[in-house]
Formats: sequence, C-alpha cells, structure tokens
Amino acid sequence: MIPIAKPLIGEEEKTAVMRVLDSGMLASGPRTEEFEKNFAEYVGTKYAMATTSGTTALHLGLLALGVARGDEVILPAFSFIATANVVLFCDAVPVFCDVDPKTFNIDPEKIEKLITKKTKAIMPVHLYGQAADMKPIQEIADSHDIHVIGDACQAHGAAYDGKMVGSFGDVECFSFYPTKNMTTGEGGMVTTDNEQIAELTISLRNHGREKTKWGYEHGRLGYNYRITDIGAAIGLEQLKKLPKNIEIRQKNAQYFNTHLNSVEIPYVIPKAKHAYHQYTVKSKNRDALTQNLKKNEIGFGIYYPQPLHSYKHLKKYEHKDLKISEKLGTEVVSLPVHPGLTNEELVKVVEAVNMAYQYPDK
Ligand SMILES: *Cc1c(COP(=O)(O)O)cnc(C)c1O
Repeated sequence: MIPIAKPLIGEEEKTAVMRVLDSGMLASGPRTEEFEKNFAEYVGTKYAMATTSGTTALHLGLLALGVARGDEVILPAFSFIATANVVLFCDAVPVFCDVDPKTFNIDPEKIEKLITKKTKAIMPVHLYGQAADMKPIQEIADSHDIHVIGDACQAHGAAYDGKMVGSFGDVECFSFYPTKNMTTGEGGMVTTDNEQIAELTISLRNHGREKTKWGYEHGRLGYNYRITDIGAAIGLEQLKKLPKNIEIRQKNAQYFNTHLNSVEIPYVIPKAKHAYHQYTVKSKNRDALTQNLKKNEIGFGIYYPQPLHSYKHLKKYEHKDLKISEKLGTEVVSLPVHPGLTNEELVKVVEAVNMAYQYPDK
C-alpha cells in the first residue's frame, strides 16, 4: 500500500526527544523558544509563537486581531473544517466566499462584494500548499481597513512574490499535524511582524497571563494552548529537513505533471512557489480513477468532498453563490506526493492514474 501521507521521522528526531525526556523539562521551555526563533527566521517574520495545533493557532490569531462576537470573517467555502470552526470559537460569523476553479484558492474578485460594516478580517487559505493570490487580497483589505489572517496550515515552504508564506497579512498560522509538510505530533505556529499581535498571542496562549513580577496576573480570558518541548524538539529537526523535503515534493509533482494524462493537473499561478502539500488533480469521471487507485493499493484523498457551508452546524450562515466550491468537491482527487515515495512508487501512481482511463467502466 502506498500511503497518501507519511511523517518522516529519523534518528535526529528520536535523539532530540530523548534529550528532552532526560532533561526533565517537558513543557514549553528552551526547545520551544529555539523552535520559535528558527521558524520565524525561516518564514521571515519578527515573531513566531508555537501552539498545540493549527486550529488553536488560528483561534489565537483571530483573537489577537480582535475578532469577537458578531464580527464577520470572510473565508473560502472550499477548505478544511477548522478554517470555519475557529471563527465560531470567537462567536464571530463565517462569510463563505467561492474559490477559483484553477487554483482552488479564494477568488479575490469575489471578496469585495461580501464586505460589510461588520467585516473584521479576510482569512485566505493557501490550499494544498499553493499561496492564495495575496496581492489583490491585501489591496482589498487595505482599502476597507480590515485584517488579513492566512491559514497556512498546508503551506510550510511555499512562497509568493519572492516571500515565504507565513509573512503575509497581519498574521498567519501553521499546523504541525503528522500529515502536514512537517510535524511535531500535534502542534501549530502563529507568525507575525506585529508586536502587539505577538504579545497578545503569547498572553492568550497562557491563560491571559501578563508580564509581571510574579507571573500570575491574568489580564484577560485566555487558554492553555502551549506546545511541549517534546513536540518542539521534533519540530526543530523537522524544520531543518523542510527545504529538502519541499524540493522532493516539487520534483515528484514535476514528474506527475509530465507523465499524467486524462486528468487536469494542478495549476500554479505565476507568482507562487507551490509546496505541494497535496498534489490534487481534477477528473470528470472520478469514480473510474479512485477505483483503479484502490485496485492498485494506492492511497488517495478527497479533500474536500463537501464545501464548508453544507455542514450541519454551518448551514445557518447566509451565503451567496458558491457553485465552484460545490462542484470541486465532486472532481478533486489528491495523489501521494510526499517525500517518502520511491521512484518505483511514482511510476506506479502514474500508471494507475493513466490506466484508469484507458479501459473505463471495467
Ligand atoms: C490541518 C489544517 C488545519 C488545522 O490544523 P490542526 O493542526 O489539525 O488543528 C486548519 N486549516 C487547514 C487548511 C488545515 O489543512
């Protein structure tokens, strides 16, 4: 079986974890600080704050922007459920925007007409590892004086316009879940250049604590969203390997680009450097493809079978035309593209995709 995703854990991660266990400092400590410093350096921001997950990173990011009860946040209808749930955590209102059928990302041309007096932020998702088209998005946000928070949970190592993802908007958020481009087991990161957002995030992550002499002053409602040094130690090693692993993902994707036929291969916008968290193709006859992948024991993913506004707890939020998000759910298939694939496995994936359409309906 070729898995759709596979965390790559080596001796370096194992040694680093053992060191933390031996040190007795298991919670957030020196490894976390180092991980944050290195991550900020990697994405090119002044600040990076580690958290327990991508979801909690997004929650903190929204809170640090002041998103609160009744505020509206514009987000793509085609994403992972967490993108919408974090808006609800803030008692705010998700406003679903349709996506571009080629890039799968929020369509900048459809954002402006969703803006109201209550709009507090736009939350583009860099889906599958390709940056959303941040230039027009930032221009719209600036002209309406609203915030931008990037859901970068799938886009470690991606770039846009010569800048790393993580450095766009007011704040961006990453996930280190085991299937992502790098992992800490569970974990996340908030990145920003804004000192106030950084300070608020640090406080909210730790029960609203404020810097005081005794360290136990709680100036606001906060949470426990602190990562462990065990996770951070894994993250430090994973971060070192990230650039190489992204290169392998890109090489694998290039191989698919030149060898796959009968499916629509991923489109990359000229400004973007795709990190290929997922290699997602489109097919009008998806069943033929998925059947042949199953037959050949090749893992695949349908991300995402239904748009966010169709979920039971999200149905009640008003929305306009979201036809593209609805249609994509019936067409997309993500193929294994992770750096653990052998050349033999790449060939096998290509053959299984191409053969699926050579003898359809068999
Ligand atoms: C994975 C993911 C999240 C949530 O990250 P967790 O670490 O699983 O909480 C949020 N948004 C997107 C787009 C994701 O892919």
